[in-house]
Amino acid sequence: MKANGFEDTIHVVSGSIEVVTGSMFSGKTEEMLRRLRRARIARQQVQVFKPKLDLRYGHDKVKSHAGSEFKAIGVSSCSEIFDLLNPGTTVVAIDEVQFFEPEIVEVCDRLAEQGIRVIVTGLDQDFRGAPFGSMPLLLSRAEHVDKLQAICMVCGGSASRTQRMIDGRPAFYEEPTVLVGGSESYEARCREHHEVPHQLNTLPQD
Ligand code: ZN
Repeated sequence: MKANGFEDTIHVVSGSIEVVTGSMFSGKTEEMLRRLRRARIARQQVQVFKPKLDLRYGHDKVKSHAGSEFKAIGVSSCSEIFDLLNPGTTVVAIDEVQFFEPEIVEVCDRLAEQGIRVIVTGLDQDFRGAPFGSMPLLLSRAEHVDKLQAICMVCGGSASRTQRMIDGRPAFYEEPTVLVGGSESYEARCREHHEVPHQLNTLPQD
């Protein structure tokens, strides 16, 4: 990643959308928080939103695996972002954006059209390796995209996928995204070591 990219601009001349994506453990939230710290130093007015269903660290902050945190507002619908937006806000960050409804794309566009710098982070793929929520559309609408890599827990190479484990074995393709009972965990994996048993072959048969 460039050290002196767009995120260092002090004067906001027009709105834009920045997407920071990648698998779990790729440092997405840490990168967003780094940009927000710099925006604060540049005296920008920052607001952070996150979906209320993400209960990992409570509703009042966004926290990276590396330990950084930032005050955040939990919203149950992306339309609440407009209701809660302060008049002087110049930077809006949205964490875990893949969990919002499809309308999140229009919300981000409208914010950017109002001159706001919009920074969103989220998973680009679910545990099956399929595109996650509205992320594909956000990636195409964004001015700036950074896809971060994690480290594969099997080979130590670059990892772009999230391996879901249930009771110590790879989660099956058809298993629900939200699990009731059982113990689940996640690991970063490369393409070669990402396992999704029971995945149907969707290629045309000859
Ligand atoms: Zn690997």
